[in-house]
Amino acid sequence: MSRFETVIGLEVHLQLNTKTKIFCSCTNQFGCPPNTNVCPVCLGLPGTLPVLNHQVLLSGIKAGLALNAEINHFIKFDRKNYYYPDLPKGYQISQYDFPVAQNGFLNIKSGKEEKRIRILRAHLEEDAGKLVHDNADSCSLVDSNRTGTPLIEIVTQPDLSSPQEAYDYLNTLKLTLQYLGISDCDMEKGSLRCDANVSIRPIGQKTLGTKTELKNMNSFRAVKTALEYEIRRHESVIESGGRIIQETLLWSDEKGMTISMRSKEQAHDYRYFPDPDLVPFTIDDTVIENVRQTMPELPQSKLTRFLTQYELSEYDANLLIADPLMADFFEQAFKEYPNPKKIANWLSGAVLMELNSRKKNIREISLSPKDLVVLINRVEEGVISNLVGKEVLTLMLDGGKKADEIIKDKGLAQVSDDSALLVVIDEIIAQNPAVVDQIKSGKPSATGFLVGQAMKKSGGRANPKKLNELITRRILGA
Ligand code: ADP
Ligand code: MG
Ligand code: ZN
Repeated sequence: MSRFETVIGLEVHLQLNTKTKIFCSCTNQFGCPPNTNVCPVCLGLPGTLPVLNHQVLLSGIKAGLALNAEINHFIKFDRKNYYYPDLPKGYQISQYDFPVAQNGFLNIKSGKEEKRIRILRAHLEEDAGKLVHDNADSCSLVDSNRTGTPLIEIVTQPDLSSPQEAYDYLNTLKLTLQYLGISDCDMEKGSLRCDANVSIRPIGQKTLGTKTELKNMNSFRAVKTALEYEIRRHESVIESGGRIIQETLLWSDEKGMTISMRSKEQAHDYRYFPDPDLVPFTIDDTVIENVRQTMPELPQSKLTRFLTQYELSEYDANLLIADPLMADFFEQAFKEYPNPKKIANWLSGAVLMELNSRKKNIREISLSPKDLVVLINRVEEGVISNLVGKEVLTLMLDGGKKADEIIKDKGLAQVSDDSALLVVIDEIIAQNPAVVDQIKSGKPSATGFLVGQAMKKSGGRANPKKLNELITRRILGA
């Protein structure tokens, strides 16, 4: 048992998915050829003036409200000065003393425990460009498509007390922002980035220990692993009589360790000052109220509602709310078919498997809630077995056809009721005495002909295996 406790605070940057950039009208889109979404403003050419994209402000307010934060009525942008080759102006337009939102919180669930993580601030800023090192010999190239991409930075209080809690916070934050629809929150595309601040202190000590800041983690898992590593490093430094120096470290996934990047700069190193090109302005309550009207139901209230209204298990409810599109789909299907457990089973089982193997979301496949309900109904009515139902689902998604069409075309419907099948079989036997004799004289392959006839007669609705069994038994008495 360690005599230290861990203190963690996270800074999460999210790219906002507005149509255009934060201060110019360039397209805000990932993955375009280098330097195609640029203009004099985002290239930082002299004589140009930034104009705030109103949608960015609205997204910021939305995020602030979802984080239970105070929205600042006074909006001001500041210059954060530093030099980097992909920062053409030599400063980043950010917010300093008047962030769009401050003093909020996010409730998370870590294991069985609920915990409130306080949000220090959320501010708007522009992203920098990108240095490309891979396809140039002995030099780096600058791609400015990303310069001026709108970002929101969300900073927690040092309230997280383990790497696992940090991991749970990130998942909750991501889901909340996905519900708002203001960011893709895709770490792989770089639309979500997380810096982790960590320190340790002897259990019981009030003052915080010296922190280090970790960068360059490319997944939530990596954030957790990097924190675990860094905590062990802090402990061993302190246990051996050393002292932690406040610095920024890069996490290396390959090496599984943190590497010193630079000693930590202080706020005054950035020489923050109000951007004279962007006049401060005030927003009144009606702007905030209008945004509040557009707020969707957030994941936590949806979870509670799914548990009570539909009486779903925690497992099913969590699985459904983990994807807002899935949750919507579920509710629409429920309107057609009021058996929540059945729908949830199909969604969390067969449907989810199809989505994963196709790497698609539920809106990207050819299945409507109604389509799924028809399929469930056919299984419940016993027209097809559960197993065949899953095959039908695959065919529906492969070819875009509806369940009934596929069941008919492929003759998948089974008449499993023996007496109904026997009526058909007896007719066929009566009509084909010669074939019956062949079977009796030891030529079982002739059975296939009778199965075919019976199948035809039943309009393709008989289960062929069952037919074969029943015909053989009827003729040979076996
Ligand atoms: P900086 O000026 O170095 O960026 P901030 O005060 O802005 O520091 O805090 C950045 C993040 O670091 C916040 O999430 C905050 O909660 C966290 N933090 C601050 N001090 C500590 C500490 N001693 N240990 C762990 N996290 C900390
Ligand atoms: Mg900071
Ligand atoms: Zn531009």
